[in-house]
Amino acid sequence: MVSKNLRKEIALQRIYRLFEVAEQEFGENPGRSKRYVELARRLSSRNKAPIPVELKKRFCKKCGSFLVRGKNAGWRDLGELVEIECRECGFSFKKGKGVK
Ligand SMILES: [Zn+2]
Repeated sequence: MVSKNLRKEIALQRIYRLFEVAEQEFGENPGRSKRYVELARRLSSRNKAPIPVELKKRFCKKCGSFLVRGKNAGWRDLGELVEIECRECGFSFKKGKGVK
């Protein structure tokens, strides 16, 4: 049990790290950012480590693009929720605001 939790914990840290790098790379190379999102999602499913809500707002679950508010993503405040629109493929989704 301990090792399972540890594995999940490590996967989660790597997921956070991948999103950090995706953010840094976005200006120069959005295609690479997309690739990092793909890796993070794969890590998540392989290790049964759900992607944290705040990171789920950072990519489009339809086309997998890394989303940057005001650049390739629209962001509409709906009170409790935000509606995020992916300008790469036009898909939009809603998420709770949470802490961030
Ligand atoms: Zn999309």
